[in-house]
Amino acid sequence: MAVIVDAARCIGCGACVVECPLEAMDLVDGIAQVDPAKCDHRGKCVAVCPTDALSLPEGVQIKLATDEQPADKRSKEKQPAEKPAEPSRPKAAKVASAPAKPGEVWSGVWVVIEYNRGEVAPVSWELLGEGRKLADDLGCDLAGVLVGHEVEDVIPEAFAYGAEKVFVIDDPVLKDYRTEPYAEAITNLVRKYQPEIMLMGATAMGRDVFPVVATKMKTGLTADCTVLGIDPDTKLLLQTRPAFGGNIMATILCRKNRPQMATVRPRVMAMPERVEGRTGEIIREELNIQESDVPKKVVDFIKGDAKSIFLDKAEILVGVGLGLGSKKNMVLAEELAEVLGATLAGTRGAVEAGWITHDRQVGQTGVTVRPKVYIAIGISGAIQHLVGMETSDYIIAINNDPEAPIFRVADYGIVGDLNQVVPALTAEFKKRLQYGLAK
Ligand SMILES: Cc1cc2nc3c(=O)[nH]c(=O)nc-3n(C[C@H](O)[C@H](O)[C@H](O)COP(=O)(O)OP(=O)(O)OC[C@H]3O[C@@H](n4cnc5c(N)ncnc54)[C@H](O)[C@@H]3O)c2cc1C
Repeated sequence: MAVIVDAARCIGCGACVVECPLEAMDLVDGIAQVDPAKCDHRGKCVAVCPTDALSLPEGVQIKLATDEQPADKRSKEKQPAEKPAEPSRPKAAKVASAPAKPGEVWSGVWVVIEYNRGEVAPVSWELLGEGRKLADDLGCDLAGVLVGHEVEDVIPEAFAYGAEKVFVIDDPVLKDYRTEPYAEAITNLVRKYQPEIMLMGATAMGRDVFPVVATKMKTGLTADCTVLGIDPDTKLLLQTRPAFGGNIMATILCRKNRPQMATVRPRVMAMPERVEGRTGEIIREELNIQESDVPKKVVDFIKGDAKSIFLDKAEILVGVGLGLGSKKNMVLAEELAEVLGATLAGTRGAVEAGWITHDRQVGQTGVTVRPKVYIAIGISGAIQHLVGMETSDYIIAINNDPEAPIFRVADYGIVGDLNQVVPALTAEFKKRLQYGLAK
């Protein structure tokens, strides 16, 4: 007799297939199937099944080696050995979510702090805020990773934004960002200190260096996450991002390999509170690379045009969509933006119509924004647009269709013809600002 499958409960996740060392499990039409000739009843598949769809024949016990106990069992056994929780911040039981190989620990949440030419990418602080929540859920430490040259001034900032430890590699070879030395420096830290989770901004640098680190570590990487969390049962990192052209939100797991790595776009996560004077542990390591080992050389650095649009930094955005009808109606949005000191943005539809340039496109294939106010004019609220702006503090939507999806995320919705509503709003704001009434 083999492991028994309850087809009604099976969700076809494939965890049993991955886990079975004898290749006795398979998915047939999305349902787990057992090959009785190969099954040895040890029950590894039963232990990992998230929906209890698998069971052993009556009277047969699960036989796992001690390092193969299911995550929830291990957590209960390990609890007494843990350090007592800090009174200020309740910590959950420490649970390693993947079976560690002998000598491996894989614990801690790391945020790689992006520092280049004297500037820290603010997404690094946003991720320390998010990392704090993950570390609290796992009951582990939150650390910042600082790789660069002359980074000393950044260390207190990392503590101020919530890091308990900062790993530092400061070397002249790291003065200008280049993939190889940065990836090597980060990978060496990972190999030595074995973090369970690693986060970095989905910036040009994050998108370049993280895949290299993930490849070197032979682990997975989920790019452009919009939501992160910890599964309460398995303690795995839940990495959610738009998938299939933004039509679904997919939650991705890295079950077997470590670290679990994710990038997150700037402005998706909230900026945490900065607490001046907070301190922590500094761990310094050397870079084992000479300048002569790096084939790429930085010969010049040309700063971007000062007039470049930085949508992700704007406090008020006026977003336009195809509802505007024609380019000549852009004047309605431009006047409103001028009165409010806002920046113009819009949908892919508006870009394709030639009303705004691509650097002003908000959404999945554009920029992610988190302004204080986002005024959506004639925008339907397609998922690909919403993922780029739904975390704005206040969303005001103007649309003549009361069923438009944009109203589902809007704090204030005005159902009406934008040709009438927008000039009326502009006039009212102008009047109020003139008399100092608007706040
Ligand atoms: C892979 C992929 C990636 C994509 N990436 C992005 C992206 O990054 N960003 C993005 O924005 N889109 C993106 N899209 C496109 C997206 O699916 C939508 O097509 C697009 O966002 C719709 O733009 P819209 O809201 O301007 O136009 P529409 O969907 O046509 O909406 C126009 C709205 O205006 C309203 N309206 C019409 N007339 C008036 C009026 N007189 N007064 C008031 N309201 C009026 C209508 O009721 C309607 O709701 C992507 C699509 C795909 C497949």
